[in-house]
Amino acid sequence: MKLSELGTGERGVIVKVSGHGSFRKRIVEMGFVRGNKVKVILNAPLRDPIEYEIIGYKISLRREEASKIEVISEAEAKKILTEREARPALEADESEDAYIEREMSTLADARRKEIRVALVGNPNCGKTSLFNMASGRHEHVGNYSGVTVAAKEGDFVHGGYHFKIVDLPGTYSLSAYSPEELYVRRNLIDDIPDVVINVVDASNLQRNLYLTTQLIDMNLRVVMALNMYDELEKKGDRLDIKQLGYLLGMPIVPTVSRVGEGLEALFDKVIQIYENSDPHLARHIHINHGAELEHSIDRLKVLIQKNQDIRDKYSTRFLAIKYLENDKEVEAVVEGLPNRDEIISARFQEHQRISDLLNSNVESALVDAKYAFVQGALAETYEPYKGQKKRNTITDKIDALVTNKWAAFPLFFLVLYLVFDGTFVVGEYPMRWIEALVSQVGAFVSSLMADGWFKDLVVDGVIGGVGSVLVFLPNILLLYFFISLLEDSGYMARAAFIMDRLMHKIGLHGKSFIPMIMGFGCNVPAIMATRTIESPKSRLITTLIIPFMSCAGRMPVYILIAGAFFPKNAGLVLMGMYALGILVAIVAAKIFSHFFKEDDLQFVMELPPYRVPTAKSIFRHTWEKGKQYLQKMSGIILICSVVIWFLGYFPDHDRYQSAQQQQEHSFIGYVGKAMEPVLKPLGFDWRMGVGIVAGVGAKELVVSTLGVMYADDEPVGASGADDTRLQRALIKSVTPAGALAYMVFILLYFPCIATFIAIRNEAGGWKWAILTAVYTIVLAWIMAFATFHLASLFI
Ligand code: GDP
Ligand code: MG
Repeated sequence: MKLSELGTGERGVIVKVSGHGSFRKRIVEMGFVRGNKVKVILNAPLRDPIEYEIIGYKISLRREEASKIEVISEAEAKKILTEREARPALEADESEDAYIEREMSTLADARRKEIRVALVGNPNCGKTSLFNMASGRHEHVGNYSGVTVAAKEGDFVHGGYHFKIVDLPGTYSLSAYSPEELYVRRNLIDDIPDVVINVVDASNLQRNLYLTTQLIDMNLRVVMALNMYDELEKKGDRLDIKQLGYLLGMPIVPTVSRVGEGLEALFDKVIQIYENSDPHLARHIHINHGAELEHSIDRLKVLIQKNQDIRDKYSTRFLAIKYLENDKEVEAVVEGLPNRDEIISARFQEHQRISDLLNSNVESALVDAKYAFVQGALAETYEPYKGQKKRNTITDKIDALVTNKWAAFPLFFLVLYLVFDGTFVVGEYPMRWIEALVSQVGAFVSSLMADGWFKDLVVDGVIGGVGSVLVFLPNILLLYFFISLLEDSGYMARAAFIMDRLMHKIGLHGKSFIPMIMGFGCNVPAIMATRTIESPKSRLITTLIIPFMSCAGRMPVYILIAGAFFPKNAGLVLMGMYALGILVAIVAAKIFSHFFKEDDLQFVMELPPYRVPTAKSIFRHTWEKGKQYLQKMSGIILICSVVIWFLGYFPDHDRYQSAQQQQEHSFIGYVGKAMEPVLKPLGFDWRMGVGIVAGVGAKELVVSTLGVMYADDEPVGASGADDTRLQRALIKSVTPAGALAYMVFILLYFPCIATFIAIRNEAGGWKWAILTAVYTIVLAWIMAFATFHLASLFI
């Protein structure tokens, strides 16, 4: 009987809780666990919620919730006991009350041994064969009113459990288009089987697993019967069943239902899932439909979730997905909600947004995403036999080349090379224009204002500081343009896929790779991009190592120093810096992965079909990432350049002859001097220390600060531009070994303030940001120390 049917004052013992995963979890957390006694405090016919007492607490449940909890009531127990011929004996000194309670528990245990199972699968995958083999044809036919489809029901005993099994009609999908699909869905939602057996035809995995993805959306307890396993073996296909089950979050049992092979093992697994006896057997995963669709799903989900009643009956994620698909039944459900207008207009906007961005309607985009998931899961686990005839969609053809054992990596590095080369070659032009523009604006403003500290603040602090960062904008936009192109076309998913195995070696996930590449542009959007990584551990580690990716801001330091000290091998040194960053990131990831708790590291790497990206989507994605860089500049960098300007300007700006002397006696000069003892062992002088301090604001500020610090060492007007002047000045005061160490230090130490804040936001707390700050600074010092002393031996 249902808990909701118990009257005021009645007692019962809980048999089981049915419903979708998140509902069960919530109810069980409230104490409604099998075997627990519950008493009704107040249940008036029209009253909602109902009040209960359980494990000594008073708790209210809504009627809908209580109707999903099965109990044995006192009355039921008494009835069964009187019907029995031999009533179990009272124990010595046992009251009638205690006796009934004990018997209720015994009966609840017995009732619990009844498992209701539904067979779900495509037509002709062998459901009926499985049903007949299992039930020994003790069948009868079930039906729903208004639906002309019927399902056979049967029962049998296995492993001490009484199974009630229903053979549902075959369907390819769980939309509400055909009577069969509707029937299956009603069964899963209204009748709520304890466990679903998803029967899958092993000789046609791609199509069959599509249905599986929809079961995953519904958040049910599923065991997969990998049927026709004989055919798969006969053909010589290879399938990593364990891994596939892991990726899909459900146990898989190979079966040959025509002869009944594997059924024992199958029902054993059903019992294990039902009893939840092994928490590693299943895990709740989400099909990742890609950032844009997930955004739409989340938006609708939040709106639907406002209605408690709905949350009990359906997985709200499933409802959101189906509603986006224009599912008629779900539309009817939404029609009845108090906030329906809000939901309807949200769907309208999301449909508009998706069709603008992806150039396809939401429904087919969702289907594509689900197939991308299946494709990715199979690519990792399934190997068709050699002689199979070639697949022939365009996507398959491209994939055959792009993920080919020999071609994959060379092709991948070629693509990366083109992206970076393209970025810097093309970016060179707008960079020069912006440089010229900034200096003209500076000169113009300068000519308008009266001399004094305020003018210096505006020209040097604001315009100069922000300008030195602005010049990187074209590079960054270009890099993100290329990355968006690769992402939207579908290639990036393949790149992540082929990197996956390597990334696993350092405790990361293939998807960590894209944010790391983005880090070469600017660490801030890169850290934000870690959101696409499902595994919390991978996401955190990726966030912590992104600061080692040489962002565009570090580039001018490398160019300046490599050009001054190693003119013949400047390119090599530059490459070395990038490589060192990557190497340190790898080692750090490896070390971190030992410290953080192991979690579900493996998720499916979706392989979406290739498509021609739409201009709108590319520009939007590029702009979104570029915007994060611009925001960093307009906020933090502006403040930092003003602060650094202030520290360098005061006190006593006008007391000294030369700018250099003045700097030496400014606040920042004192800071630099104070740091000297720490920097000496690295071969740096105090002025380089000032550069390091400035770099805390943004690494872009290092060069401009050094420019000021060394301004007087070489007279203006001598041959060459500003840069070479600074380079000559540097050569006079630092050894090549010290210069090399300086590059290493700049690469590794504290990521800029903006990155620091991004880490706090994405990793979820100051502690991670502070950890990053501390460990990068310590590491930078050690590495620079080692570099300086090693290099001193050779150069
Ligand atoms: P349903 O449509 O899902 O109910 O599938 P059926 O049980 O009616 O089976 C469809 C066909 O597949 C029948 O001809 C079965 O004999 C055959 N079949 C079922 N299971 C297996 C199996 O494990 N291996 C092979 N080779 N054939 C099977
Ligand atoms: Mg059948």
